[in-house]
Amino acid sequence: MKPVQHITVLGATGSIGTSTLDVLRRHPQQFSVFALSAATQVDALLAQCLEFAPRYAVMSSAAHAQQLAQRLREHSSPTQVLQEADALEQIAAHPEVDTVMGAIVGAAGLAPCLAAARAGKRLLLANKEALVVGGALFMQAVQDNGCTLIPIDSEHSAIFQCLPEDASTWGQRLHSVILTASGGPFRQRDPHTLAQVTVAEACKHPNFSMGRKISVDSATMMNKALEVIEARWLFHLQPEQIRVVIHPEQIIHSMVQMRDSSVLAQLGTPDMRVPIACGLSWPERIASGVAPLDFTQLAGLSFEEADAQRFPGLHLSWQALRAPEGTTAILNAANEIAVAAFLEERLRFDRIHAVNLATLEQLIPDEKPASVPALMALDAQARQVAQTMVQRWSL
Ligand code: NDP
Ligand code: MG
Repeated sequence: MKPVQHITVLGATGSIGTSTLDVLRRHPQQFSVFALSAATQVDALLAQCLEFAPRYAVMSSAAHAQQLAQRLREHSSPTQVLQEADALEQIAAHPEVDTVMGAIVGAAGLAPCLAAARAGKRLLLANKEALVVGGALFMQAVQDNGCTLIPIDSEHSAIFQCLPEDASTWGQRLHSVILTASGGPFRQRDPHTLAQVTVAEACKHPNFSMGRKISVDSATMMNKALEVIEARWLFHLQPEQIRVVIHPEQIIHSMVQMRDSSVLAQLGTPDMRVPIACGLSWPERIASGVAPLDFTQLAGLSFEEADAQRFPGLHLSWQALRAPEGTTAILNAANEIAVAAFLEERLRFDRIHAVNLATLEQLIPDEKPASVPALMALDAQARQVAQTMVQRWSL
């Protein structure tokens, strides 16, 4: 029998985190939860700690950590709450951990995911922003430390599954990748009405229930823009080797086109537990809890081009990838600020793109950010510029 894999789930209380625990729950002989983290949801993390009895739990603030520790004591739980500033890095890099699920949202996930990479862990990466912010640095750490990096984002999992297992052959065989996109809730909406979009409308994804930030990113298609950048790093591609096509049914999760024009696709029920189970067990396979596709029930598969007027943000990814290194970190930071302002009803939906564009125009990295502190400084600078843009257009 295989040894039990010890897992840390970063961002355990989110959409990907809870789906991960759902898959783990089905395989208690194979996996043991070593540590869990959350930002502010004490009740949700408490319930997970009581069920999975991890050795450690981490929360983002001292106040939340103290609350959790108190509640765990009341339940006589063995779980210890770590409160050091680098607690997330500690649970990602701990010598007893085999696998880390990186499911924090935003640039906040970079440092702990990088710690897992540097410790040579098996890293299941959902946190696409970590690669958008720190791509070059991140991939170098993966390579230098023998980290096994497995994409969880469904498109990248699809591409990963379609490619040969030996990554050293990808360059010779691969022509391009085609990322599929659902088109989100506004695929058919009149672009002239995008100024009136409400938070509830933007967060209502047609096929998936996801965190609020990625839901808004799907509605603007900035999610796909971030995924273009993510694909560039994961699969060592040139920007022109990455294409996007809208596929509203979300049955094909992405495709790779080989040099001979053969196209390989990965299909499945749109449920994140499939790429999560794939990542957990790769190269073997385990049950995900998801019903398989029933092809006789599929009405059809359709494809269309993304409309640049409706989704102006999509093209910023190629633009940022061709600009000096660090530009993608600026784009990511601006987008995090703009989306947060939209979710707080301080910014109109169509101004998210305006903030992103204006921040990119105002800030050009003068030198290559070669360390996490340098990246975080650039990130902070971009957030500041984006905040002034938000204020300019504030509701
Ligand atoms: P959620 O918002 O649902 O969950 C985010 C998790 O991270 C929560 O556990 C949250 O804690 C924690 N968190 C939030 N902010 C911080 C912070 N500053 N520091 C530490 N922890 C934090 O997000 P999703 O699960 O939807 O997405 C997670 C990542 O996976 C994102 O990068 C997203 O792009 C990617 N992804 C998501 C998909 C999906 O279907 N949801 C699909 C593909 C990729 P708390 O609950 O306490 O706030
Ligand atoms: Mg995706």
